Amino acid sequence: MMHPDLDDLDPRPQGEPALVDALGRPLHDLRISVTDRCNFRCQYCMPKEIFGPNFAFLPRSEILSFEEITRLARLFAARGVNKFRLTGGEPTLRAELPKLVAMLHEIETPEGAPVEIAMTTNATMLKHLAQPLADAGLDRVTVSLDSIDDATFRAMNDMDFPVAMVLEGIDAAAAAGLGPIKVNAVVRRGVNDHTLLDLARHFRGTPHIVRFIEFMDVGTTNGWRLDEVIPAADLVAQLDAEFGLEPLEANYAGEVARRYRYRDGAGEVGFITSVTQPFCGTCTRARLSADGSIYTCLFAAGGTDFRSAMRDGASDEELGAMIDALWRARTDRYSELRTQATGDLQRVEMSFIGG
Ligand code: SAM
Ligand code: SF4
Ligand code: SF4
Repeated sequence: MMHPDLDDLDPRPQGEPALVDALGRPLHDLRISVTDRCNFRCQYCMPKEIFGPNFAFLPRSEILSFEEITRLARLFAARGVNKFRLTGGEPTLRAELPKLVAMLHEIETPEGAPVEIAMTTNATMLKHLAQPLADAGLDRVTVSLDSIDDATFRAMNDMDFPVAMVLEGIDAAAAAGLGPIKVNAVVRRGVNDHTLLDLARHFRGTPHIVRFIEFMDVGTTNGWRLDEVIPAADLVAQLDAEFGLEPLEANYAGEVARRYRYRDGAGEVGFITSVTQPFCGTCTRARLSADGSIYTCLFAAGGTDFRSAMRDGASDEELGAMIDALWRARTDRYSELRTQATGDLQRVEMSFIGG
């Protein structure tokens, strides 16, 4: 049976059957990975030991063309998606990205509303790309910046990129009207936790919103250890003691960040509790990989290959039926199950991570 809160979320006109998954969750967001390449080698995401000079990135022929991406995006919008997020790898490394944004910008929801287009980026290319992307129809950017301390940041991206370059990118994005910008920092105990108050302090008094993300066990290569996760609640307490915080209401059902404002009016911060308080119950996201597979969960072991179907001549109806079937069958709730399995964080560390 449909969850009553989620029922309200479905944007389809009355009378049309809503597309919901096996747990009653509608489909609202499509994350589009436009490349598997990146100019950073963040240890937790693309460690150099694996993504070194000999790593085989996808050849051009295996990456979806802009036409193929747009075709799938249109089919998703027809089924309830009202937000596209460009990601990667590093999305700004994809040649002619503004052209793709312009193509996605043409897509409307069944009600004729525009589909919001956002992008998550490390911001190193924004100095020159922010304005062309904004002109093409990009609405907002989220910038990843794990530390405001230059030495810590250079070590975390492992390619010696300075903080200043990211700050320049943030300024360019703000000047192009892509703000307020969300600044995401993945929190790792013993790696960047000593620099987080300074990160918050840097953006206090600006319209930009720092969001602290609990380090997740994505993939199999990032050396995840539960003892490196600092629960968001601990960080909230630290920031509250330093600056004074008060909670804010969520902007919309399914919003992943717990929102707070500084009591002195100096702006907002957020905490993404993917590990300690997972939000699978309101997860409305599908993911399209650069090589054209759809994943129904960040932790899904495998995707469904839409590229072959498209290149074998599938019609829009056939592709749409594939999306419908995939979403209806969706039962993913990996983070909730992990939390249930781990229970007390400290206790599970041994049994859950041990292997
Ligand atoms: N390259 C772009 C960037 O870094 O913003 C977009 C892709 S990146 C995979 C998207 C986001 O995932 C980044 O904010 C990154 O910090 C986050 N991320 C990657 N691995 C993570 C992990 N193990 N735990 C939590 N967040 C992670
Ligand atoms: Fe690149 Fe983003 Fe992954 Fe860092 S988190 S390696 S910037 S894709
Ligand atoms: Fe969504 Fe999967 Fe993350 Fe749960 S674990 S919030 S289902 S992506």
